[in-house]
This record gives sequence, C-alpha cells and structure tokens, in this order.
Amino acid sequence: MKNFKAVGIALVAAVAALLSSGADAPTRSRNTAVPGSPGGVRDSGGIICLMYHRFVTSADYAGLAGDERVYSIPVERFEEQLAELRRWGYRAIGADEAVAFARGEGRPPHPAVLITIDDGNRSALTMAEPLLRKYGMRATLFVTTDPCAFVFDAERPDRARLTDDEIRSLDPRVLDVQAHGATHRPLRDLSDRELAAELRESREVLSNLTGRRVAYMAVPGNWYDERVLTFARREGYDAVFVSDRGRIVPGTNPYRMPRYTVQGYKSLGGFRKLIAPGAAGVEPTR
Ligand SMILES: [Zn+2]
Repeated sequence: MKNFKAVGIALVAAVAALLSSGADAPTRSRNTAVPGSPGGVRDSGGIICLMYHRFVTSADYAGLAGDERVYSIPVERFEEQLAELRRWGYRAIGADEAVAFARGEGRPPHPAVLITIDDGNRSALTMAEPLLRKYGMRATLFVTTDPCAFVFDAERPDRARLTDDEIRSLDPRVLDVQAHGATHRPLRDLSDRELAAELRESREVLSNLTGRRVAYMAVPGNWYDERVLTFARREGYDAVFVSDRGRIVPGTNPYRMPRYTVQGYKSLGGFRKLIAPGAAGVEPTR
C-alpha cells in the first residue's frame, strides 16, 4: 500500500512538472526553434506586432518624465525583450509576410513577431539596428517625412529624425522603410485635399529616397477613422497599421492591422505576459 502511494505521488509530481513546463516556460529554451513547428505551448496562432518609438540609454531614460517614459525605451531593456522573444522561438518577419498572412495568403513560421518602430527617430539606426542584427531580427520603420514635425527636435540629438542619407543607406532586410504621414498631424482632422496630399507626399518622398515601393503606412497617433482608411486605400497603400490591440490572424482587415505599444517602462514580466503564445489578453482579433 505504501508503495502504491509513493508511485502515485511521483506520478502526480511528474504530471504537474509537465503541465507547468507547458504553461509558463518556453518550450525552446536554447534557440532550437523549428520553423513551422507550433512547439508544445497553448497558442492562438496569430502574429504579434509590437510598436516602439525611441531608444535611449538607461541613464537618459532616468531623466525622462510623462509621455517620454512611454515612447522611449532604455536600449538595455529592448535587448532583454529581443532575447526573450528569441527564448520563446519567435522569428521576426517583414510587413509583407504579416499582410499576406492577414489576407490568408501563406503562413510565416510560427511563432512570428512583426517589430515596428514609428516616427523615424535616429535612435532606430544608432541603437536598435545593431541589436536587431545581433539577434538576427528585423523591423519595419514607419517614417514621418518632415524633419520639422513636432515628434522631432533637431536641437536634441536624441529627438532628431534620420537624415535623408541615413534613410537611403538603411538595409531593408533589417530596417524596412514604410510611411507614417508627412507632418504627423492627426489625419482625421485634415480636409480631403490635405489628407490626400499628406498620404501621397510621405509615400513619394520615401519611395524616392529608398528606390523601393512604399506599400504600407502606420497611422500617426492612431488618429484615424473610416475616411482616413478609405483615402489610404485610394492613395495606393496595400495595408494600414493602427495601434489597436490584438493579434494578426487570417481574416484581419489589412487596413486595420493591430499592434501592441511596448511602453518604455514595461517590466520584463509584463513583456513576457504580452508575448507568451496563448497568453491571456492576446487572443486573435479580427
Ligand atoms: Zn508617430
């Protein structure tokens, strides 16, 4: 009887260990991700799209206040997040793959993350790009074309826009340039004429700089409505990224591609909850 009890306890312990390893630990802890393999974790199957803005040193971050603590992230924290993504076996994909997936055309290796960086701040090149390379990842850079837009400050090196030459020199396999308005003004507040011009100009300027087609845009400030999306389609954009939360799944409207803001103050635990496949609150949305 004693032996039965011991075996029973051992079995319960083994099952508990198995369950907990599936529930809260990566199944591929040493970068042994098999492309296309769902791993052993409970998973929604969607693509997670993350949104960043500016990258700063921890020392500089300590001096920030208010919104700047949301839209700037200490570069050391960004690196921890890339490492965490890799630990879970995530592969960073391009916007093309995410849009095709939303349209039901093809499926990227799973789990996949689309990293996006808004505005075109220089730190995307000086601080984020080396880390993306180090971790074998890539990002889509949504650039506001007017260097005098209010999101930039030419007097402050940490708030300046990438120069035209820097935009020209970006490697699209690491930082792929797409549009983010010309002036970063709220698009929904513009007249029809202004709106069309804003969408067209930003696209043409970036396309001329990079020599490549600009097919996607992210809405500045998430200030959009149906009219903005209609104009985006009319001006030739194939997809529009917004800042509404949700994962990208087959059937997601390509003109409302959801993204998660990664606030600069987010803890690693909070980030893990966000990206853990199948985590609460990250169920697929349409
Ligand atoms: Zn922006």
